[in-house]
Amino acid sequence: MANPLYDTLFGQHHGKSGTFLHMQDGTTMSYAGFLGLAAQYANLLVQLGLNPGDRAAVQVQKSPQALAFYAACVQAGIVFLPLNTAYTADEVQYFVENSGARVLLCDQAKADSLRPVAEGCDAALETLNGDGTGSFADKATALPDNFDTVARSTDDLAAFLYTSGTTGRSKGAMLTQGNLLSNAQTLVTEWRFTADDILLHALPIFHTHGLFVASNITLLAGGQMIFLPKFNLDVMIEKLPLATAMMGVPTFYTRLLGDARFTKDLVQHMRLFVSGSAPLLAETHIQFEERTGHRILERYGMTETNMNTSNPYDGERRAGTVGFPLPGVELKITDSKTGATLPQGEIGEIEVRGPNVFKGYWQMPEKTAEELRPDGFFITGDLGQIDKDGYVQIVGRNKDLIISGGYNIYPKEVELLLDEQNGVLESAVIGVPHPDFGETVVGIIVPDGDSDPDLDAIAANIGTSLARFKQPQKLIVRAELPRNTMGKVQKKALRDEYGALFE
Ligand code: ATP
Ligand code: MG
Repeated sequence: MANPLYDTLFGQHHGKSGTFLHMQDGTTMSYAGFLGLAAQYANLLVQLGLNPGDRAAVQVQKSPQALAFYAACVQAGIVFLPLNTAYTADEVQYFVENSGARVLLCDQAKADSLRPVAEGCDAALETLNGDGTGSFADKATALPDNFDTVARSTDDLAAFLYTSGTTGRSKGAMLTQGNLLSNAQTLVTEWRFTADDILLHALPIFHTHGLFVASNITLLAGGQMIFLPKFNLDVMIEKLPLATAMMGVPTFYTRLLGDARFTKDLVQHMRLFVSGSAPLLAETHIQFEERTGHRILERYGMTETNMNTSNPYDGERRAGTVGFPLPGVELKITDSKTGATLPQGEIGEIEVRGPNVFKGYWQMPEKTAEELRPDGFFITGDLGQIDKDGYVQIVGRNKDLIISGGYNIYPKEVELLLDEQNGVLESAVIGVPHPDFGETVVGIIVPDGDSDPDLDAIAANIGTSLARFKQPQKLIVRAELPRNTMGKVQKKALRDEYGALFE
């Protein structure tokens, strides 16, 4: 095929008058309309001087036009580089500079602050607003709505996706056409997506979850999406009856469960709920089933690899696990120091290999060499174990591992216990510097009501089931845990905040 990713996800729908996107206001966009827009954008990218292999950085609100820009990049062989809308001008500067992007697409509201950034990096600045207007859209209207698709191979780069920056500076993961395509094909099969599906899409499209998982799967299957600018409870409740499937981060599920309008009747017709990007509390999984009769399907992936594991579509979806390695993905648990594969049941580094695994970090050869082994296994930075039935369980990130007095402490083990205590909604356990032990354990607790939980009682309870070195030296109550847009708890921020407790 001339351009495998374009042909498979987009090209197959040429001339199709059926609906692709449903907008929040009830209007729709057909497949043909979407592809015509993408072709106009591709023509404009060429007119702006971009060549195949060049990068296009995009920091825009979610809209059908923003998604069409992704399609345009694929069609023109340009590397698509979406950026979190929360990034400041200084942060965007890093990404534009680091990637050498030739164009920076942003909202009109940000144009003034980003113009110097674009000029400084010799990139063209164009605007595209959430309502589909802007300089880029204006210039594109006069251009033909067809475009000669640029030939690419599965090994050519399709996107640079920067990691979420949870553990340090975001890294640009180089993803090939083959990486994206193989994963989309696997997930369509595993999760049984068809042209009859209507996916409720409230995730951002600058992140792998909303972009590659949700959108690529729908495109490949030829289904439809209810494409919402963001998660809004009222709108979700209104749109759920129209959908067959939903993908969300755990906070979507906890927020839905917190609303009395979210009932079994509302979602009885749905076929699938998927969760990922951050751990889903077993408690949420159970509550969801009690309320709706559905079991959430939790899966595990990352920017560098797309999806690695998934709970089964048929068969038991096990709470607190991320299921089995996807077909074609090899997964092993290894010793952090030696790299040797550990026996079943032991905790170690999660390593993965497969057609989904990225080509390396853009211009970071040392970092790439540290994490991507010569034999193709990627050291994910997550710690996990495999239970006796083969389900993978994530116990946390290696950077969050606490080493106190020479002993390893996995925060998840302590968090699971804290979460069970009276009056506790959720918790985060971190290691902070300690003069005697190197590091010691601090437990941060979010109460499940208005009154503070009894910390002495909690400490006493925990004391009966946890070895002394694992017990938090201090428990702290907080109204909520700091989270980013993907619902990831920002443990680094917590460590910075509480780092001087024992100094
Ligand atoms: P950075 O790599 O810059 O520190 P990040 O790892 O948060 O940021 P992403 O690629 O967006 O950036 O997130 C991938 C990570 O999200 C995984 O490595 C894992 O820690 C976590 N994750 C994803 N899905 C799950 C899940 N179902 N359960 C637990 N953790 C998950
Ligand atoms: Mg990461």
